[in-house]
Amino acid sequence: MKITTGKVVSIEFKIADANGTILDQSEQDNEWTFLTGSGEIPPGLELALEGKAAGEQFKVTLTPENGYGPRDESLVTTISKSDLGDEDTTLAVGDQLEAETDDGWEIVTVVAIGPDSITVDGNHEFAGKTVLFDVTITEVRDATAEELEHGHVHDGECEDEDEEWEEWEEDEDEDEEEKKK
Ligand code: ZN
Repeated sequence: MKITTGKVVSIEFKIADANGTILDQSEQDNEWTFLTGSGEIPPGLELALEGKAAGEQFKVTLTPENGYGPRDESLVTTISKSDLGDEDTTLAVGDQLEAETDDGWEIVTVVAIGPDSITVDGNHEFAGKTVLFDVTITEVRDATAEELEHGHVHDGECEDEDEEWEEWEEDEDEDEEEKKK
């Protein structure tokens, strides 16, 4: 089965920087599984996967333009420790946490800890970097109708409560429309 939009793809990967230093890699039996066409993976990787099949191995270089995007310094923000409640006692530089931003809940990385505040960075760790992906495709399957509708992979039950909430809201809208008819 060749990869097109709407397939569930699993890959083993190594990600290296321009000097060949490994930045991240999949662990044994812990592959990266995603839905193509959902915007879950960088566009350059999506393009490189197109038309390939399970068992194929390839390398692709992702620049900020077709990879993780440029760094956005406005995503670096300082949070008062008093706003964090009990959480500040356990935080260390490099920790990742979920923070509520203008765009909803985002993963941010702690980059500095001061006496009264912490500084977090909402950029993806590879933003602004050129990275080399070394990929082995391990599995390709058709996405189910439900996965396509949700825009993500279901590994068993759907665990995305936000998604269920959105669906519930959509159902409400449909009910409203029904009433209008
Ligand atoms: Zn779902």
